[in-house]
Amino acid sequence: MNVSTQRKRVLSGMRSTGKLHLGNYVGALQNWVRMQDQYECFYFIADWHALTTDYADTSKVKQNSVDVLLDWLAAGLDPARCTMFIQSHVPQHAELHLLFSMITPLGWLERVPTYKEQRENIAEKDLSTYGFLGYPVLQAADILIYKGDLVPVGEDQVAHVELTREIARRFNQFYGKTALILPEPQALLTPAAKLPGTDGRKMSKSYGNTIMLTDPEPVVRQKLKTMVTDPARIRRSDPGNPDVCPVGDLHKIFSSPETMARVNVGCRSAGIGCIECKSWAADALVQVLNPMRQRRKKYEDNPRLAWDILEAGSAAASNVADATMAEVRGAMGMSLEYEPPRPSEGVN
Ligand code: SF4
Repeated sequence: MNVSTQRKRVLSGMRSTGKLHLGNYVGALQNWVRMQDQYECFYFIADWHALTTDYADTSKVKQNSVDVLLDWLAAGLDPARCTMFIQSHVPQHAELHLLFSMITPLGWLERVPTYKEQRENIAEKDLSTYGFLGYPVLQAADILIYKGDLVPVGEDQVAHVELTREIARRFNQFYGKTALILPEPQALLTPAAKLPGTDGRKMSKSYGNTIMLTDPEPVVRQKLKTMVTDPARIRRSDPGNPDVCPVGDLHKIFSSPETMARVNVGCRSAGIGCIECKSWAADALVQVLNPMRQRRKKYEDNPRLAWDILEAGSAAASNVADATMAEVRGAMGMSLEYEPPRPSEGVN
């Protein structure tokens, strides 16, 4: 495990939604892999967060968490260079969440943009629960319990980090009179490349348009074949535009500059057909996914190895979380230590 205290500490989590797709890779995981050498990284699988929207059936939560871990390891996260764990295996998060829930005004939570948005978008589930409203408070606990310096986020998540900062500030105002207890983290904006699914919409499991990190090569190639293209290319002789084509977006992320140049020229002049162009995109994807499959195999063959990584990760995370909770409890006058009565106490 990484024990450096020199590097800034990064905190980030991913919901335990099961196997990951290319959108998860490009949107977060790829960046996490890069960061593990630059920062002291704590990455957690947010199984409690998954419950905030999927609480009715919890039968798959544990397996989903393991599947996420396997994809993390496949993508190149390395237990020797970062700490990986399952959120619920470090229950100190829940204690801090509880304490934060005492000081967080309801209005702060109701105005979080994703709260209203998701309640409207996920109409098939009843999200009028305490847990769903309070999930940004849990998120604040996830970050502040490790005194994270940086939280990598996309634009849409900046409001959550801001709320975490507000909660830290409020906590420090109440209880940090003599020393700063919870430093405010900074958002580390990570530009997310546009990664469309096979139907051209945002890649998402709920749209059924994903390319999974676990997809074998023939499946990847087949999915690419059915991918939508620039609608202007009705006939082979019609010129197209890679900038408005989902396959073009894939090329921009995964293909070499040489291939990209051939796509640009060939598509715009109708010099290449979409079938050929898609096969080049498939080649580029396979080059990224095949090494992942090789790395994953070691853990698929011996699942205990993956679980050992989680156990070691939660032990390391617990050490840090325990130290913070001792400070938090002390600052709130609730330490676990015996304290003799003060002289003035007990005098009638
Ligand atoms: S040639 Fe490639 S980039 Fe152009 S429309 Fe066809 S698939 Fe898209």
